[in-house]
Amino acid sequence: MFENLSDKLDRAFKVLKGQGSITEINVAETMKEIRKALLDADVNYKTAKTFTDDVRTKALGENVLTSISPGQLLTKLMNDELTALMGGTTAELDLKPSPTIILIAGLNGAGKTTFTGKLANYLKTQKGKKPLLVADDIYRPAAITQLQVLGEQVGIPVYANPESKDPIAIAREGIAQAKQNGNNVVIIDTAGRLSIDEAMMVEIEQVKAAVNPHEILFVVDAMTGQDAVNTAKVFNDRLDFTGVVLTKLDGDTRGGAALSIKSVVNKPIKFIGTGEKMEALDVFHPDRMASRILG
Ligand code: GDP
Repeated sequence: MFENLSDKLDRAFKVLKGQGSITEINVAETMKEIRKALLDADVNYKTAKTFTDDVRTKALGENVLTSISPGQLLTKLMNDELTALMGGTTAELDLKPSPTIILIAGLNGAGKTTFTGKLANYLKTQKGKKPLLVADDIYRPAAITQLQVLGEQVGIPVYANPESKDPIAIAREGIAQAKQNGNNVVIIDTAGRLSIDEAMMVEIEQVKAAVNPHEILFVVDAMTGQDAVNTAKVFNDRLDFTGVVLTKLDGDTRGGAALSIKSVVNKPIKFIGTGEKMEALDVFHPDRMASRILG
């Protein structure tokens, strides 16, 4: 059976069990095991190495407490270190501008449209906002319908212009409508592709330049592991996004993606998707994710 990260860490800690102090030798062995476990959980090599090197240095440092076991000490150090690597604290959306313009980007199937609905629902019910959704995917007529269905479910209006083939114009029209109707948040759901594509990148860059969003959220499927990290890097190089949304963390999760993405693109993870329902959205808490990765 597939062994998960926490099982592997448990096994790694056994190396230290019963030993009164942390020595160069036993900590080095344990770190090797932990690094292997992190790599298996799709944490990229550089991140895993930096992480284990830091924990190792701290474990061997002068602050070692004799009152707790080496295993407990390492667990705490790893928790603190993972939390810090994932940003330390929760990163909030900038909702001060009115209307706040939020651009949603990512590949097809990542969960963009679902997240757009969830975010609108969250902003309405938790933050007292009045959002408008904009259907800016001109390639898939079904995408417009999908957003309209979600909008109806959560009681949020959707701006669409099925006649238009101009995503910049549609985005601008949506914002104009929001201003007219007193919507204080505009969430623009953009077109994706199955894989990274130059035309898609140019298009979303143009939409960004035209509407000057306050937030650009990059949506990525947490189950895609190392691909998620590579995609995040390309989107960030082109769009300089303001935050990441990790979806599908309800499945057989690879918590490692959270750690790698944060350390590779150095942008905060702002939300996590935990299911298909409109309520299945959580604000990202680095400390909770650290505990989850460690099991
Ligand atoms: P888009 O192409 O990026 O707009 O992706 P969609 O929003 O259409 O989502 C693709 C599929 O993933 C749909 O079947 C969604 O129901 C599903 N999905 C989206 N977010 C989540 C999530 O957090 N958990 C699970 N289990 N499924 C999700």
